Amino acid sequence: MTTLIPFITVIGAGLAGSEAALAAARLGVHVHLYEMRPVKMTPAHRSGNFAELVCSNSLGGQGELQAKGLLQSEMRSVGSAVMQAADASRLPAGGALAVEREGFSERMTGAVRSHPNITVHGEEVTGLPEGYTVIATGPLTAEALAAELTKLTGEDQLAFYDAAAPVIAFESIDMEVAFRAGRYEQSADYINCPMTREQYEAFYAALETARSHTPHDWEKLEFFEGCMPIEEIARRGKETPRFGPMKPRGLTDPRTGRWPYAAVQLRQEDQEGRMWSLVGFQTGLKWGDQKAVVQLIPGLENAEILRYGVMHRNTYLNAPRVLDAALELRDRPGTFVAGVLAGTEGYLESAATGWLAGTNAARAALGLGKLVPPQESMLGGLTRYLESANPKNFQPMNVNWALVPEIPATDPIYAGGRKKLGKREKRPVMYRRGLGAFVDWAQDAGMDVTLPPEPVTVLGEETLVAAPA
Ligand SMILES: Cc1cc2nc3c(=O)[nH]c(=O)nc-3n(C[C@H](O)[C@H](O)[C@H](O)COP(=O)(O)OP(=O)(O)OC[C@H]3O[C@@H](n4cnc5c(N)ncnc54)[C@H](O)[C@@H]3O)c2cc1C
Repeated sequence: MTTLIPFITVIGAGLAGSEAALAAARLGVHVHLYEMRPVKMTPAHRSGNFAELVCSNSLGGQGELQAKGLLQSEMRSVGSAVMQAADASRLPAGGALAVEREGFSERMTGAVRSHPNITVHGEEVTGLPEGYTVIATGPLTAEALAAELTKLTGEDQLAFYDAAAPVIAFESIDMEVAFRAGRYEQSADYINCPMTREQYEAFYAALETARSHTPHDWEKLEFFEGCMPIEEIARRGKETPRFGPMKPRGLTDPRTGRWPYAAVQLRQEDQEGRMWSLVGFQTGLKWGDQKAVVQLIPGLENAEILRYGVMHRNTYLNAPRVLDAALELRDRPGTFVAGVLAGTEGYLESAATGWLAGTNAARAALGLGKLVPPQESMLGGLTRYLESANPKNFQPMNVNWALVPEIPATDPIYAGGRKKLGKREKRPVMYRRGLGAFVDWAQDAGMDVTLPPEPVTVLGEETLVAAPA
């Protein structure tokens, strides 16, 4: 009598798919992994290696002050293959976890190809397979599969283009300057940053000279009116932004009783109201210039940018409409989605969601229940965001501290309200709370857990992951 070994299918051997395949294989299921490169290349990849880093070689800032630092530690604790390859190929890079890119993806390729539970198929997948599956085909998912996904989820649920505006941490907005209101007092759903004529002119001058990221040849930026970048709107004339996304009509500033000369509006992005995006401010400005321009907006002088605006080709699902927090498609049980296609942003986030999707698909194949990490952990915060973010204008997200709960005001660190704490004091507490919750959760779920080394506190400015060059 032959015993049938439970198996899953993983599509795409990028950051998410390679991690998913190895996580599932470690749980004892057999994995059929499909990767179309090098037979069919994407416009961004250069090799046939797995987990290729297509642009920067950084997996983000490290240590207990960094949201990526917490995610790195969570992944190390459950034996993430991407973190093992990154640690083995790291380069000196100050506060960031940078890696030697060829060495990194060669290690990942070796780990996948040599695993006895993984069979690699070098071919493009054009339809959705039956059985437990992880789809991890990334921002440049091949057309035929993308068309299948559109058929499955509906016309409007798969985006092919990312025209994203910066997202700001609420706690960094100066509400002494900004005010809550909707146009013509219809609602108080928006945060508005009012500008005088002088402030508008200074802002316009900065926008005119700010440098844009030069698109790759394959990213033909054909703007449709609805998602034109703010710098392009400005290029059409000094008054154009003031008659477009910066129009002040109907926005009565409670401090003056009048409409300002111009205004920037922010819309709530998450359920708790800790992340706000600039309405109509999709932008391809370089990140340094983008920050300088945003911080010229009254009320945003100290803005903490949780996610920079980007303009590039990107295939991603409207996660809050189609996925749950375990990364399973709501309308197709047994099919999980990971990486950029699931609405995340970044190498590390792709790998982490790959680990969870691979683990859950393998558990499903083994007849076990699916898992969702605790909300205090960075991975739990990210997947809950994917499940519950505002589905209107959904934008992919990278990890940040606003994804996990604040430290409650009753916590002893506030000394009964006598102490006011800054980021540097709060974040190590959030780091320890998140890692502790994640490790306990993983142990309760029966996983092999190794406590990661003590975090390094990296002082100074938060390390930015380099924007696409
Ligand atoms: C140009 C560009 C630059 C970026 N730069 C950065 C950066 O600097 N830092 C950062 O953190 N993030 C960056 N990102 C975002 C993101 O982190 C990376 O794209 C990351 O590789 C995403 O991981 P993934 O696993 O979702 O997709 P990928 O790593 O792209 O993996 C998807 C895999 O699926 C394969 N595939 C696609 N369709 C099929 C199919 N139908 N059948 C079989 N195989 C298929 C592809 O060949 C690919 O190997 C960038 C994205 C792009 C597009």
